[in-house]
Amino acid sequence: MNDDDAVLICLPVSFGNPGGFDDNEQGPCSRCGQLVCWRPHAPPFPRVCMDCFHAEVRATGGDGLNIAYTEDTRRDLLAYALQALAAAEAAERKRGH
Ligand SMILES: [Zn+2]
Repeated sequence: MNDDDAVLICLPVSFGNPGGFDDNEQGPCSRCGQLVCWRPHAPPFPRVCMDCFHAEVRATGGDGLNIAYTEDTRRDLLAYALQALAAAEAAERKRGH
């Protein structure tokens, strides 16, 4: 992994706090500016919100995306985004597009 272009995928604060963490840190998404949160021990890479992450996976399939997390988290995030993309595409097909 080349850390120079790594990003930290973050949950928008508007999603609430599904992890129940009281010590999350907050700041703007480096791409769209919406307020996101991250764990205090997360590595200090540019923060990218789930919306911008989904847009990038939609555009690239996740190829070349350098996520500053553990391999387990990278796999979980990609699976989540690809599942959301498949659900969106299935909904599109159902609507006849
Ligand atoms: Zn964003």
